This record gives sequence, structure tokens and C-alpha cells, in this order.
Amino acid sequence: MVTTSIPVWETHSPAHICPFDQACSYLDWAGKELKLDAGLLEILSHPRKVVTVSIPVKLDRGEIRVFAGHRVQHSDVLGPYKGGIRYHPAVTLREVSALAMLMTWKCALLGIPYGGAKGGIPIDPKQFSIGELERISRRYISELIKDIGPSVDIPAPDMGTSAREMAWMMDTYSVNVGHAVPGVVTGKPISIGGSRGREMATGRGVMIIVREALADRGQSLAGAKIAIQGFGNVGGAAAQLLHQAGAKIIAVSTGNGGVFSEHGLDIPALKAYAAENRRSILGFPHGTFISNADLLTLPCDVLIPAALENQITEDNASQIQAKMIAEAANGPVTLEANHTLEGRGVIVLPDILANAGGVVVSYLEWVQGLSYLFWDEERVNREMEHLMVQAYRQVMQQSKARQVNLRLAAYTLGVGRVAQALTDRGLYP
Ligand code: GLU
Repeated sequence: MVTTSIPVWETHSPAHICPFDQACSYLDWAGKELKLDAGLLEILSHPRKVVTVSIPVKLDRGEIRVFAGHRVQHSDVLGPYKGGIRYHPAVTLREVSALAMLMTWKCALLGIPYGGAKGGIPIDPKQFSIGELERISRRYISELIKDIGPSVDIPAPDMGTSAREMAWMMDTYSVNVGHAVPGVVTGKPISIGGSRGREMATGRGVMIIVREALADRGQSLAGAKIAIQGFGNVGGAAAQLLHQAGAKIIAVSTGNGGVFSEHGLDIPALKAYAAENRRSILGFPHGTFISNADLLTLPCDVLIPAALENQITEDNASQIQAKMIAEAANGPVTLEANHTLEGRGVIVLPDILANAGGVVVSYLEWVQGLSYLFWDEERVNREMEHLMVQAYRQVMQQSKARQVNLRLAAYTLGVGRVAQALTDRGLYP
């Protein structure tokens, strides 16, 4: 069993499942399957660098508050650290550490030359003004100035952050080093070197993986019944693209519940409704209310959890009626639940494959920036689709060759590549 390595000053983890222990169990599982050397596994189970900074900020009403800002750099064996920055009240160092590890396996699985990292600040961005968010973002990144850089560690958006925060961070970094450095972050606005197609990328990747998995079972997206938990950056984009492809989106939800329609929701109308109602979809006239818990257990072809981790656990796994689950969020299905679902014949498309579209287009953005040559959206989508479909096929092949489920197939590919690189590079000194 690999050991966990969270510094003692991390005192709380609100979820009853420790996300870092969970990430280590996945690593352990892959390590056993690959018969990895225990020492190698031990190295991979520790983040290389863990940074927590204090972010003192003057709020609009004059009060000074100090927030914690984390950045965990799990591995840079394959290239610069890469991963998003999350603003969410449930952020803890354990969660950020787990997500950093997932990024390492995700980048390796997709064959992009990055390591893995993640950042986070435990705040609810809705509680702050734009000016306050700007000061929080700028101070956070200036505290991390020595730890990031276009060939060191490249942040990107995650839950609660977007192109706007990336622009502030790129500007802060650039002003501090004395010249413009667009490559220090990805997911930036197009005006400063962002890539076309980045905003919809994670949702598009989910659509591509679901399309491939259904096609392998002789089914097409047209008419497929799909339920989506989450209607933000990822869930909203996935809903839109799947709807365009002819799928029947029977339910979507946000934090406080969602809407259901047996005949399929009109997604463009729902988007317009959310835009008019401060992002709330409750009360949408062409559907009925559904709770988040009930959405997860709806009978459907594909269930897409696109919100937080640990949504499908031992408690509800036996009630899931979907034939297939695509993990658009990071870690929405626990390891135990995955085993239960598998026993019942439910296909689980794992997060490190299903939600990799975002980091793939981040990579394409970084490549375009480094080569000073920017592509049209059609080319970005084509290159992304190629990498996603290639990884999907490799996971299918690995699953057949090793007679393992898709999660273990994806993990053995990701972990195996990093372990191979680590072996080739050797241990210093
Ligand atoms: N936050 C996204 C993820 O979890 C994207 C990371 C990136 O683009 O670096 O994959």
C-alpha cells in the first residue's frame, strides 16, 4: 500500500472520503496490475512540491481578509507541471493534491508532454465582487511567481475560474518579470493568445468519448437518452454539443437541483433561461424539478456527472440505472462504486479520458503560442479530436489486452508511461 504524504498542517477534509487517499488507491491498483517496483510506486505517490501561500486582500468595504492559496506540483517527469486553479469553498490541500496526481496520469494518457499540478483557493467566487476576485487572483499568482512559468508550471481554468482569471494571472506574472509571457497560463482570452475552441473543449471531449463508446456498442448519439449533473463550463458545453448531435438530454442540474423532461430538454432555450436567471435553471417552464440525487438514478443510456467528486458512492451505486457513465468531473465515482457498477455491467468512462479535452486544447494553445502561429477553430477541434480518439482506442485496446475495466486500462496507460519515463531518467543523485 502506498503511503499518503500530506503535510501535517492540513487539518480538515470535509468529505468523508479523503480524496488524496482515493487517488493513492487508484495508483496502487494500477501499480499492482503493472507489477511496478515498490520504490517507484512510492515516488509516484508523493507530490514533488506542495506550496501553500497566504493571500491577504482588502475587501471592498475596507476589511482585510487572508485566504489560503494552494498549488500542488505532483510530477514533472514528462514535462512542465500542468493543471487548473479551482475557486470553490470545498477546496482543501488534500483535494488539490489528489487532483494534481490525476492531472499527471491524464496528460500521460493523452500523450501530451506535461506533468501534473493543481491549484486552489477555498472561496465561493459568487460571494466576491469582480474587483475582489481580481485582487485575490493577482496576489495568489504573485506569491507563486517563482514556482510557475511557461516551461515550469502552467496554470489553467478549473471550477470557479475562467479566461478572466487567466488574463489577470498572465498580466501579473508578465508585469513582475518585465515582459509579456502569454505561455504562463492557458485558457486565456483569445485577445492575448488564447486558443479558439478552448472554452467548449472539455465538453467537446466528453461528447467525443461518449460518441465513440456508443458507436462501439452499435448505438449513435442521435436519440440517446442522456442525464447530466452540472450545467457549468463542462456540463453546459457537453449538453449543447450532445443536443446538437441529436441526443435527448432528459435532465440537467446545478447545485440546488435541476430540470427533467422525458421528451428531452430544449438545451438552447435552457441556456437562455439560465442566462436570464443568474445561472439558475430552476423554474424552467418546459420540464419538471428533479433533485441531484434523483437525477443520478434516472434510467438512461448515458449519465454524465459534470460537477464535484464523490457523487456516485457505495450508497447509491446499486441504484444507478444508466447503461454508461462518462466522468466529466474529476473523481465523481468512487473506487468501491466503480466495482459495484462494473459488477452490474455499467460501463464507466474514466475521468482521465472523458474530461481530457480541456487540457488537450490547453496544450494546443501552448503549442500555438510557442510557435507564434494561431489556428482556426476547425483545426483546433480536428487536432483535439485526433488526440481524444487515439487515447480512447488505446484505452479500449489496453482493456482487452489486460482483461481489465476501462478505468484500470486508462490508469495503467497513464501511470505506466510516467513510470517508464522515471525509470529512463533515473533517480538523482
Ligand atoms: N482544469 C482542467 C482539468 O482538470 C484543465 C487543466 C488544464 O487545461 O491545464 O483537466
